[in-house]
Amino acid sequence: MPELPEVETVRRTLERYLIGRRIKSIFIYYSKILANQTKENFIKSLQDEKIEAITRRGKWLIFHLEHYELLSHLRMEGKYFLKDPEEELNKHEHVVFLLDNGKELRYQDTRKFGRLYLFPKGTCFDEKPLKDVGYEPWDKCLKEAYLKEKWKGKKIPIKTALLDQSVIAGIGNIYADEILFVSHIHPLKLSSQLTKDQCRSIIESTRMILGEAISMGGTTIRSYEPEKGVHGRFQQQLLVHNQSKCKVCGTTIERIVVGGRSTYFCPNCQRKGKKESK
Ligand SMILES: [Zn+2]
Repeated sequence: MPELPEVETVRRTLERYLIGRRIKSIFIYYSKILANQTKENFIKSLQDEKIEAITRRGKWLIFHLEHYELLSHLRMEGKYFLKDPEEELNKHEHVVFLLDNGKELRYQDTRKFGRLYLFPKGTCFDEKPLKDVGYEPWDKCLKEAYLKEKWKGKKIPIKTALLDQSVIAGIGNIYADEILFVSHIHPLKLSSQLTKDQCRSIIESTRMILGEAISMGGTTIRSYEPEKGVHGRFQQQLLVHNQSKCKVCGTTIERIVVGGRSTYFCPNCQRKGKKESK
């Protein structure tokens, strides 16, 4: 599943090809992708709209059009392709936008979990789903006190708490493991028990790890070939997730399931009872 860095990579790539383009026609082959619109209304609204900007909020892509905001969540397998109309449509391409330069922007999704929302311009941030999205990792308001307050009385493992998009936006299963490893925090530690120092460490590690992943994604953008699709996945240099030995101490990495999600940690560097604060 793409996390913040991958979605940011998709955003930057699409931006290079789509800004200033006008949508000439829309074809929908699987209507359930549309979360808050009928097919007819979606098509009618987007006809002749110009793409003015593409931004990101958490794991959401936002296409800013002249009169609308189009939100896209890739979920598990969503990808965007730029193709020529002559190219045969494959069965996983569910939404096609014909652009004024003759190219087609195709949304492909083998699992069909991705969703598109359409809002009148200027309203998307006040409505669900964006209304409930927490701070971006680099938001100045993201501070230890905020996390302490959010996690106060929450008897859930910190691994699960990090995946809650209403607290910090953009962290998924892979980077949550990486953040906890760098912060020396055991994934099962209850979020309510974290010290102020540990909260600070989580904020710093989140910024560092996601920032590095975004800059690695930059390499993908430069070598990007639009006809091969943009999904933002790139060679991730992971420290703990899906690894066998700890890169710091050599201990065998353990895999457990937390809240239904595969979780990797080093039992030596991330001790549960240890005073992990730096
Ligand atoms: Zn270790």
